[in-house]
Amino acid sequence: MGDTDALNIPKSSLSRIVIVGGGFGGIALAKALKGKEMQVVLLDKNNYHTFQPLLYQVSTGGLEPDSIAYPLRKVLQGYPDVYFRLAEVREVIPGSKLIRTDIGDLGYDYLVIGTGSETNFFGNNEIEKNSMGMKSIPQSLNLRSLILENFEQALLTDNLRERDALMNFVIVGGGPTGVELAGALAEIKKGILPKDYPDLDTRKAQINLIQSGNRILAEMSEQASKKAEDFLENLGVEVWKDCRVTGYDGKTVRTKTDLVFEAATMVWAAGVKAVSIQGLNAKELLAPGNRMKVNEFNQVLDHEAIFAIGDAACMFSEDAPQGHPMVAQPAIQQGRHLGENLVRLLKKKPMKPFVYKDKGSMATVGRNKAVVDLKHYRFQGIFAWFVWMFVHLFFLIGFRDRMVVFVNWVYNYIRFDREARLIIRPYKRDYSQFKDCKDSKSES
Ligand SMILES: Cc1cc2nc3c(=O)[nH]c(=O)nc-3n(C[C@H](O)[C@H](O)[C@H](O)COP(=O)(O)OP(=O)(O)OC[C@H]3O[C@@H](n4cnc5c(N)ncnc54)[C@H](O)[C@@H]3O)c2cc1C
Repeated sequence: MGDTDALNIPKSSLSRIVIVGGGFGGIALAKALKGKEMQVVLLDKNNYHTFQPLLYQVSTGGLEPDSIAYPLRKVLQGYPDVYFRLAEVREVIPGSKLIRTDIGDLGYDYLVIGTGSETNFFGNNEIEKNSMGMKSIPQSLNLRSLILENFEQALLTDNLRERDALMNFVIVGGGPTGVELAGALAEIKKGILPKDYPDLDTRKAQINLIQSGNRILAEMSEQASKKAEDFLENLGVEVWKDCRVTGYDGKTVRTKTDLVFEAATMVWAAGVKAVSIQGLNAKELLAPGNRMKVNEFNQVLDHEAIFAIGDAACMFSEDAPQGHPMVAQPAIQQGRHLGENLVRLLKKKPMKPFVYKDKGSMATVGRNKAVVDLKHYRFQGIFAWFVWMFVHLFFLIGFRDRMVVFVNWVYNYIRFDREARLIIRPYKRDYSQFKDCKDSKSES
């Protein structure tokens, strides 16, 4: 390594492993390298880890953001060989073994990219500009504010069509994120809105879930899809299948069919793509969804000293011809496995290929309603819901977050409530475009 010691990282005779991203994969790797005689530098653009599976509960007032975020410095307490820096990585220069960040350059012996993924709008700028994403805590807080602001705004108008549009929620994407959000909104409509807005006919609020394929939860079993759809319909969610959304101007959701929706809120949960980093974004390095092609050791194609894990990586194998699913387990397992392989590499021993252990998948639709697919066993309903809660509590980082989430869930369950429905950071929405809604409907 050169004489680089930017970002005030002490010079050391130990090999320097730079991990970009304190997500599921990055944290698992940093922990696996504890006491292994390496200098580990963890970089993240946020000073906290986000537990993304529960973002929808922040968006719907079930949890405060600090119960699903955890300070990275706290994660790393007791890891004296790991240096954390709050930095956004902008570019990698593999020839010089150097990365460019917003706070300076840093050299590495081995680099690990664990930068996760971002929302994929598939090049549709109009949808990107006007819809809401739910990939980070700030985005979830924006959505929470917008949902609440829409109801406050609906109270102010006599124009029934405008009011309906303000209370119409369109969620695009029938994967776990879309399903869980739709279920939570339906529960709010049933249990909270009538009490919060007694002077508004909240029965008119609509929750539409749109899926381009012929079933929701397409990655799960048909049994799980069918049951989840039944759960949603019982909760009053309209599920539209084989329906592709083509545009949204902030007021009208257009689809490939003649179906249109007038809605003040469209949430885009229809796809993700890996975060791409300059220097590692050549076409030949990338698989579909911008994921970096890696070999069985998570090594990036043609770059011996660079590895990618989790959502950022695409490892083709017999078991996973399209790469592993972009969920937490592959990221965690790859992080741990790469930790062992880096130790072997530095000891000049051969690395071991990664083998994914699929632990199954699950999604919740609401109170007492979840679907679980395990390798040899599938179940739905209240037991599945308890399993879903237990697994999510178990994987949350930190005792405090687990306790806070648990207490909130018990409270919400007993009280049929979600008390974090606060507009702390108002979302600036231009409502003027709804003013010209022709008041063609009558309330009768
Ligand atoms: C709403 C939602 C619900 C989900 N639900 C589930 C679920 O129920 N079950 C499940 O298993 N998975 C779920 N997932 C997917 C799961 O969260 C991801 O697969 C997982 O987080 C991937 O882990 P990772 O380590 O690859 O990346 P992440 O956990 O996304 O971490 C990436 C980290 O990199 C940092 N970063 C990104 N770019 C840079 C940069 N340029 N410089 C510095 N730092 C950077 C980010 O700040 C972040 O901390 C969900 C995802 C979302 C969005």
